[in-house]
Amino acid sequence: MNTQQRQSIKEKIIVEIASIQKEIVLLEEKSQPITPDCSLGRLTRQEMMLEQQVYLHTLEENQKRLNRLKFALSKVENEDYGECKECEEDIAYERLLLVPESAYCVNCLDELNGE
Ligand SMILES: [Zn+2]
Repeated sequence: MNTQQRQSIKEKIIVEIASIQKEIVLLEEKSQPITPDCSLGRLTRQEMMLEQQVYLHTLEENQKRLNRLKFALSKVENEDYGECKECEEDIAYERLLLVPESAYCVNCLDELNGE
């Protein structure tokens, strides 16, 4: 990976972090507990609660990805960033650009998932 590629990945991570943080703020608002004095009908209320569960789940997933991205950002300047944890081969640049927090190359990921 050359300096230019590393820089592109770094910028990509920063952009992703900013967009996830925005989404998290929105999700946190949407997943606020429903107030008891809610004047809506019972069915609507149940629907809202289901929706709230979905928001909470998405929120959790986003927070996990945010942590992984922050970790990747802290590592991106390191010499061993972009190295597969399993086989120590370089992870394809295109893959890192798409998923900057990748810790494994596609081959190892397939094997790990196949277990
Ligand atoms: Zn590998």
